[in-house]
Amino acid sequence: MNAYIARICTSFIDVPGKIAVAVYFAGCSLRCKDCQNKELWDPHSGILMTLDTVDQQINAHQLADSVVFLGGEPTDQMPFLKTLCQKIRDKERVLYTGREFEELPPSLIEHLDMIICGPYRSDLHIDSWPASKNQRVFVKKGSLWKSQTT
Ligand code: SF4
Repeated sequence: MNAYIARICTSFIDVPGKIAVAVYFAGCSLRCKDCQNKELWDPHSGILMTLDTVDQQINAHQLADSVVFLGGEPTDQMPFLKTLCQKIRDKERVLYTGREFEELPPSLIEHLDMIICGPYRSDLHIDSWPASKNQRVFVKKGSLWKSQTT
């Protein structure tokens, strides 16, 4: 199983208060007007990587307590994303998506711990996290999802 991945790196900003491994998926079909990552719209902006390679690179970041999927649009490569989430057991799994929570399949969200939903919009920008007011944050508590949006 393969996916187009732009880069895998350490992140100190995408999960507040946590060290994360950031997996940037290449390719996005949503094409939001104010996208900050337009260079990742084309899947071929990344390279095709196997599931095992991505998993190994995540595990190489031993200090990270979270893994965050962003891009690009990770859910455009849904079978790979689901399988990768299932494999990761020792880190919190966090997804940034331009899609809304209600659009995501249960078979994906059961393998996630936090989801930040909705596209970045410059007209709703705030100097906070997440960066625009329309974005909603959901956190799993036990088997339930709680919205943290104020
Ligand atoms: S979903 Fe994200 S990556 Fe895709 S166009 Fe919208 S803001 Fe950009």
